[in-house]
Amino acid sequence: MSQPQAGVCARTPTDVLQTVFGHQSFRFPQAEVIAHVMHGGDALVLMPTGGGKSLCYQVPALLRGGVAVVISPLIALMHDQVRALGKRGVRAATLNSTQSPEQAQAVRQALQAGHIDLLYVAPERMVSTRLTELLRQVPVSLFAIDEAHCVSQWGHDFRPEYLALERLAADWPGVPRVALTATATAQTRHEILNRLGLNQARVFVSGFDRPNIFYQVVHKTDVRAQLLQLITQSHSGQSGIVYVATRARAQALASWLRRHAVAAWPYHAGLERAQRQAHEAAFADTPGAVMVATVAFGMGIDKPDIRFVAHVDLPRSLEHYYQETGRAGRDGLPATAWLAYGINDVLQRWQLARNAQGSASQLQRVLQAFDEMLRFGESLQCRGQALSAHFGQDSGPCGHCDNCLARDMPQAQWDATEAAQMMLSTVYRLWRERGQRFGSGHLIDIVRGKATPRVRLQSHDTLSVFGVGAQWSVVTWRLVLRALLAQQMLVPDDEGYGTLAMTPASVALLRGQQKLLMRQLASD
Ligand code: ADP
Ligand code: ZN
Repeated sequence: MSQPQAGVCARTPTDVLQTVFGHQSFRFPQAEVIAHVMHGGDALVLMPTGGGKSLCYQVPALLRGGVAVVISPLIALMHDQVRALGKRGVRAATLNSTQSPEQAQAVRQALQAGHIDLLYVAPERMVSTRLTELLRQVPVSLFAIDEAHCVSQWGHDFRPEYLALERLAADWPGVPRVALTATATAQTRHEILNRLGLNQARVFVSGFDRPNIFYQVVHKTDVRAQLLQLITQSHSGQSGIVYVATRARAQALASWLRRHAVAAWPYHAGLERAQRQAHEAAFADTPGAVMVATVAFGMGIDKPDIRFVAHVDLPRSLEHYYQETGRAGRDGLPATAWLAYGINDVLQRWQLARNAQGSASQLQRVLQAFDEMLRFGESLQCRGQALSAHFGQDSGPCGHCDNCLARDMPQAQWDATEAAQMMLSTVYRLWRERGQRFGSGHLIDIVRGKATPRVRLQSHDTLSVFGVGAQWSVVTWRLVLRALLAQQMLVPDDEGYGTLAMTPASVALLRGQQKLLMRQLASD
């Protein structure tokens, strides 16, 4: 704790950036945030993962007198930051539950002696009276609230202790507060400002485009084979994360990949803590390691060279998708965000949502988030543009997604209206004429004219729609169904057996008042 204060002769933020951190220039909007905080203003900083949020408070921490208190939910990350800052000669320390009483005491003494510029603490610490009293005895330069979306009750990372941070404003009037997050929907932004009492805060948003990530959405057929192909053909020997919906799937898929010579580990909340840590360490240290994980593997992944993030199940929201894919390519080198999904994902999600406990409004939000995710998957619009729009920003086509590439190719779009009409009129007839509803497989058999035993038994081969769509493959029909489900022109009925029903939205398409455009398939 006795090193000289870092950058004693550094005067301006740029001096600090260059002499202490070794970077040439600020990235947008670092300089703006720093200037604002230096003048005592509160800020909410929304930047994508890897964007450089830390400097937004580290630089003012070194320029304003006193100690900057950084509230962060992850102890491992705090240790990393303190170590990294120490190497640069910055006097940083942490107070947390993993320390011995002697270690904690040494930190307290250094703090009282004015020898600490940045103090990292967990949110539960921040509300303890002991720390509060200690901090009253020293000048505090600023409060940084990292991963500020943890205050959002709707979010996956909700931490009740974050709610108590609202008190900071009243307890330390005049001390600037900087909240930082990579989660940037209008809803989360609103909640952070409200719940942390940041009424006067200026909001800084950086671009959400990640130019080195190639976004690709594919149709799920044999997903394990598809994934293996992605890994062995495009990312052989490289690290990646595969996101799955359930713990069981994480286990099973990791084992399967290992049997196929991929160094894979599972990660989910059902594993023992020690095991999770072991898998994290293996992922960090093994070249070509693949983590097969649920959403539990998230905040705090600090591996810059993740070359691909694959989703083999539909993410629960665009927010999750963006956050999870954003872990790829933090070093700025090319990386892939790959999403595979099919009709069954759509049906399962609906089922899950329907079975979920919770209030009607919660269910509404879950479904709405899911709906946005689906529309993103089905869309022919640029993926980068769609993501930016989701975060309230306009942008041009990104040029680094499947849809941007497809747009440059002739006949990239297929007008699937006729096929969709065939499918909808099949559903309509069965219901109208026979009071029957069926699932996707049987419907496809009918339109393709496949006289399976079940089709014959039901004498569905006598329907006028039998075989009208024989020219299209099963895969194409599954895609048409997926698109109809995504647009809610078909919905699973309440029986819950995967049987499909029409909606008011389907009528416009049946009447020819609306079109269904889809991407042209390579196989057709
Ligand atoms: P975040 O917290 O937003 O995910 P970090 O603060 O950890 O991102 O920064 C991500 C990486 O970007 C780090 O390696 C950091 O050194 C680097 N970085 C941040 N700001 C700059 C800058 N102005 N110039 C060059 N590199 C920077
Ligand atoms: Zn694009």
